Amino acid sequence: MITRYLGPADARIRWGIAAFFILFAAAVPPLAGLYGQLNPDISSRFEIYLATSAMILALWAISYNLMLGYAGMVSFAHAAYFGIGAYTVGLLFQRYHLPVLEGLLLTPIAGALVGLATGLVALRAVRLYFSLLTLAISQLLFTIAFNWVAVTGGDNGVHGITIPDQLSDYTPLYYFVAGVVGLCLIVMFVITRSPFGAALAAIRENRERARSIGINVKMYELAVYTLASTFAAIAGGLFAVFQQEAYPEMLYWTQNAQPVVVALLGGTGSFLGPAIGAFIYTVLQNTLSKNYANQFDIILGAIVLVVVLIVPGGFASLPQFLTNLRNRFRREEEPARIESTGEAMREADLARVVQVQAVQAADTPVERGEPLLVIQDLSKSFGGLRAVQNVDLTVHAGDRHAIIGPNGAGKSTLFNLISGRLKPDSGKVLFGGRDITGKPPHLIAKAGIGRAFQITMIFPKLTVLQNLQYAMLAHRGYTTRPFGFANRMFRAEAMELIEAVGLGRYAALPAGQLGHGDQRAIELAISLALGSRLVLLDEPTAGMSQYETQKAMELVRQVAAEKGLTLLFCEHDMEVVFGTARTVTVMYLGRVLTQGTPEEIRRNPEVRKIYLGELEEIA
Ligand code: ADP
Ligand code: MG
Repeated sequence: MITRYLGPADARIRWGIAAFFILFAAAVPPLAGLYGQLNPDISSRFEIYLATSAMILALWAISYNLMLGYAGMVSFAHAAYFGIGAYTVGLLFQRYHLPVLEGLLLTPIAGALVGLATGLVALRAVRLYFSLLTLAISQLLFTIAFNWVAVTGGDNGVHGITIPDQLSDYTPLYYFVAGVVGLCLIVMFVITRSPFGAALAAIRENRERARSIGINVKMYELAVYTLASTFAAIAGGLFAVFQQEAYPEMLYWTQNAQPVVVALLGGTGSFLGPAIGAFIYTVLQNTLSKNYANQFDIILGAIVLVVVLIVPGGFASLPQFLTNLRNRFRREEEPARIESTGEAMREADLARVVQVQAVQAADTPVERGEPLLVIQDLSKSFGGLRAVQNVDLTVHAGDRHAIIGPNGAGKSTLFNLISGRLKPDSGKVLFGGRDITGKPPHLIAKAGIGRAFQITMIFPKLTVLQNLQYAMLAHRGYTTRPFGFANRMFRAEAMELIEAVGLGRYAALPAGQLGHGDQRAIELAISLALGSRLVLLDEPTAGMSQYETQKAMELVRQVAAEKGLTLLFCEHDMEVVFGTARTVTVMYLGRVLTQGTPEEIRRNPEVRKIYLGELEEIA
């Protein structure tokens, strides 16, 4: 996991590793030849043969890692798409005498089609249930391959696939496979670094947050599932060319252990991790199977266990792991866990604060625009509990509108109804004149409603900068792009916002490492980064110190004024409410009790009673 937030110097190391890979891959046949000459009892052809199979395994495992490492999806059907690739080449050759290289060109199409169709089924569920569905799909596809004798040849599979003479020797075949694998890796690499890849990372880190920045989670999952199937089918096609056969066991569900083990061994957190894993796996399998053929599985299991427990980042993270170990050994301070609470805010630029206050003074007169958000007779019950009852509410453009009310009044539920996280039982939500009632969260986010959650919802393993960049990418519709370098997009804009919340120094740190107050600031910044017209803030300063609260609200007011945002927020802290809001709505037991200017609300006797806890049922 560590490799994801390497700095520029480490990036050079990474390119060095990639260059080494390429050189090593190119040098395998001559090296094997040399090795063979020095050791007459070793066949250099066999070494090349092993390297070829490691290449194919690497492609298969990296395609698997598109799902596992980049999107956090655990599939048990990946072997099926590998098998489908092999069958595509095999059957087209056997039945239609299609040369294998042309068959190979069709494997991505076969993989994509079957991947898309089955992915649509598997992605009707999430997490564990998604995994179980892939298992079922895997068994289904295996059964088809095994039992549909007329088409697939049944348990015999397809044999005797002939390949062009030019490829019949080990070395040319190796270079051919290496070339195809290399090409696929380049394409996959570009995809993982693209805005599309950024959306996957966002989904992996926090599905809910991903939705609220405008990502259609299911669509992206389906897309990556299909992509992974596509590349798995190419790997399977290469296997058929290499082994000149395809057989039903390739699709059997236990085969999925291979890409999983390889990805875990190598490391799911880096692009080339699974390639390293494939190499190690092949070497292990080969050396162990000579002497301990029967114990191979158990030894492999033990190795995976050790790797996962001790070096969870896999072999790819070994350098980092060793550095950390050495540091600990030398009793050097580990890179200090950042205790940033408050500190950053305190150092926020004073000039900015002055500027903020000027803005505040300038926009104090109440100038309410058109109705932007109109809520009509909205209700939501949880079982018998009527959390929101017949609420009518109008938020005007440019307003800073607070909703107050004791715990359980239904404020968060109301926000969830507006943002699409919950669907109302009845009533309407209109935004800018459009009916958005019951629309999914990503569409509502796209329509221009951003939000900060009551519980901090950020992307913990992404850097502070990436948190904001990705939010901007998603909200502005860039994340459908499978090319371009996501980390270089919206950098300046994101950085500006980070500086404004006083987190400039932490921009390159994983957001999850910051203190609570600073995470709240990121949460806020994300909602402001979206450039939405309306921003919903659910207790934006919950858990912040008084000083942080003050600063955060200044920021909110400033950004709102600069960008012409409309704010709808709920807040516990009455100082915040009366210092920021221009309109206040009071909720109690799911209903709107009253509405007015802060001054009116402050004087309202009913409101005073609620806050003293004296008021009973309001019928
Ligand atoms: P507030 O944000 O004003 O404190 P909420 O909207 O969180 O209030 O909650 C309103 C009422 O609805 C509370 O009684 C709460 O227990 C209940 N509630 C909120 N969410 C759920 C849920 N998902 N399932 C069941 N009850 C819920
Ligand atoms: Mg709440």
